[in-house]
Amino acid sequence: MEFVDRTLKCIDCGAEFVFTVGEQLFFHDKQFKNDPRHCKQCKAKRGKGGGRKVRPETRTTCSECGAETTVPFKPTQGRPVLCRSCFQKLPGKQAPVSSDLKTKTEAELTPAQN
Ligand SMILES: [Zn+2]
Ligand SMILES: [Zn+2]
Repeated sequence: MEFVDRTLKCIDCGAEFVFTVGEQLFFHDKQFKNDPRHCKQCKAKRGKGGGRKVRPETRTTCSECGAETTVPFKPTQGRPVLCRSCFQKLPGKQAPVSSDLKTKTEAELTPAQN
């Protein structure tokens, strides 16, 4: 299969951006079925989900033992945040990380503009 650079249009700002051969190979490798739909700027603005970028770590305190810890998401007020060791002590409990990410993804999917 041959790949060539393709020009795609960003669904957010309408800007044209290049879907490079390298990126196409990456998508092909990951078996992503859909083309990227956002230009680099919009992707950066949206943050997260880039994969290549370092995840932002937020400093917080463990609600269980009070130890200082970092989490790869912004802790929601009122939601308990556990340090790694406390989290590992909870068998079968839902990861606060994944549930928070889920909420975030849903929020991001909702268009903000009218
Ligand atoms: Zn854009
Ligand atoms: Zn703890």
